[in-house]
Amino acid sequence: MSAALELPGDDLAFQAEALNRRLAGLPAESVLKIAINELYRSRIALVSSFGAEAAVLLHLVASVDKATPVLFIDTAKLFEQTLAYRDALVARLGLTDLRVLRPDPALLAAKDASGSLWFRDANACCAIRKVEPLERGLRPFTAWINGRKRFQAGSRAALPLVEAVDGRLKFNPLADWSAADLAAYAARHDLPAHPLVAEGYLSIGCAPCTQPVAPGEDARAGRWRGQDKVECGIHTALPATPFGEE
Ligand code: SF4
Repeated sequence: MSAALELPGDDLAFQAEALNRRLAGLPAESVLKIAINELYRSRIALVSSFGAEAAVLLHLVASVDKATPVLFIDTAKLFEQTLAYRDALVARLGLTDLRVLRPDPALLAAKDASGSLWFRDANACCAIRKVEPLERGLRPFTAWINGRKRFQAGSRAALPLVEAVDGRLKFNPLADWSAADLAAYAARHDLPAHPLVAEGYLSIGCAPCTQPVAPGEDARAGRWRGQDKVECGIHTALPATPFGEE
């Protein structure tokens, strides 16, 4: 690690503040090089949904180090197109360490044996199908990278470049990218689009909870449409009792 980027003390919130000051204005690729190669070598992972805009960050990370661990949560409720897109992108980008995280079978049997918990209590369903698997998958890591952008939704408008969350630093290297920036990058590198984007899905999660959006809507407006829910819980705490306690 370069002396210029030594992190202060053990206080993660303080470290995040310092990184936000030091990395401000750097291009995403530079932020990723510093995070992956200098600050957290072998201790950082990318978490990707392989959704509508995932190809850009996957390409950026692959350009820094193709062996970066990529964590993917397979909730068993995803679109088949997402699984096929994941496999195609991993092959195209040469990523060598895809780690598929799955729900705990015991939790599924206890809380969602019928597979319909998403209909009765979406927060409880996300807790056992997304939040718990990710918590397990992140245990070996000190920091992680994700692809949230400020433009995606009002709830993300103040997203910082680096956050301290649940004992880890969390990098949002695309926080200030616009939809036009993403499209231009994807075109420049000839990145394939998720097949459902052409059908109006601008944010893609689980099949039962994802709908296309109308022109002018937030990209995430089709997620849990009609419910008082805008996040799955891997980025913000859910109001429900953890892991589907009923
Ligand atoms: Fe369950 Fe829907 Fe959350 Fe997927 S997005 S884990 S199906 S509630």
